[in-house]
Amino acid sequence: MHLDRFPRHKLTFGTTPIEALPRLSSHLGGKVEIFAKREDMNSGLAFGGNKLRKLEYLIPEALAEGCDTLVTIGGVQSNHTRQVAAVAAKLGLKCRLVQESWVNWSDAVYDRVGNILMSRVLGAHVELVEEGFGIGFKESWENALEDVRRKGGKPYAIPAGASDHPLGGLGFVGFAEEVRAQERELGIRFDYVFVCSVTGGTQAGMVVGFAADGRADRVIGIDASATPDDTRAQILRIAERTADLVGLGRAVTDSDVVLDTRYAYPEYGVPSGETVEAIRLSARLEGMMTDPVYEGKSMQGMIDMIARDEIPAGSKVLYAHLGGVPAINGYSYLFRNG
Ligand SMILES: *Cc1c(COP(=O)(O)O)cnc(C)c1O
Repeated sequence: MHLDRFPRHKLTFGTTPIEALPRLSSHLGGKVEIFAKREDMNSGLAFGGNKLRKLEYLIPEALAEGCDTLVTIGGVQSNHTRQVAAVAAKLGLKCRLVQESWVNWSDAVYDRVGNILMSRVLGAHVELVEEGFGIGFKESWENALEDVRRKGGKPYAIPAGASDHPLGGLGFVGFAEEVRAQERELGIRFDYVFVCSVTGGTQAGMVVGFAADGRADRVIGIDASATPDDTRAQILRIAERTADLVGLGRAVTDSDVVLDTRYAYPEYGVPSGETVEAIRLSARLEGMMTDPVYEGKSMQGMIDMIARDEIPAGSKVLYAHLGGVPAINGYSYLFRNG
């Protein structure tokens, strides 16, 4: 594979730590050994998160084209838009964010705290738009791009989650290569990697990266979109494109994509009682925070599958912690008693 062929603008600290989670492992029976790879601590840019690995491959293009404004889209508590705002600040670019009403959640401070608070402090132009959830291309995003152009700016268009972009899968091919190097150092090999999926670029990159050593279908995607057909199709599309780009040497097929649809209920951005329990459990056993939109759901899925013996005894499991904790501030009422 040829990931080195693509320019990368460093936005992260480098290799993220892999941490053992022994108390969670033994709480779940001790038959499966759980580790976490801490993508949530990958950067000094406004608390970091998984979008930065992807943006490392998009930003060289934005700079080469001489763009002066990063334009992107997400929900009100989008981690992605917050990371783009921080990248723009760091690079001295302007930032235009479209924040749609993707989540039916009415905490009194939902649009004041967490991610959107930081995006505002980071100097981004934040626009709230009444438009529902969807991972495809949106009119409001096109309008924002057009508005920047009309005012004489040169926008760089970043789709939701920095995923459905020709270069959107590259970052997490690099994740897989990094894991392989860490496995050699640690003298272990992970049998499964758990990852939360919504716009799909993260899992798509991992599928390609782990296909290189026969583990594509050991990447267990946990859907958090509650529109899994769209997410699945997008993972496959991005993975196919990315495999071509890096020269994987074989086509990616439908059977390479594992997306478990059991945990996204009741809907995108709304945690179930079981999600909240998973958030509390990993916090209280490991001191590790997760959020109600994404990582709480993949944590719930991993816990449930281990508890149901769907993961064979003796397995080593890697939970990819993709970040997202700032959004928990928008759920303050839910956690008012802990
Ligand atoms: C964006 C995000 C995801 C989902 O990643 P995709 O590449 O959009 O599938 C998962 N967890 C967190 C914390 C995120 O911000």
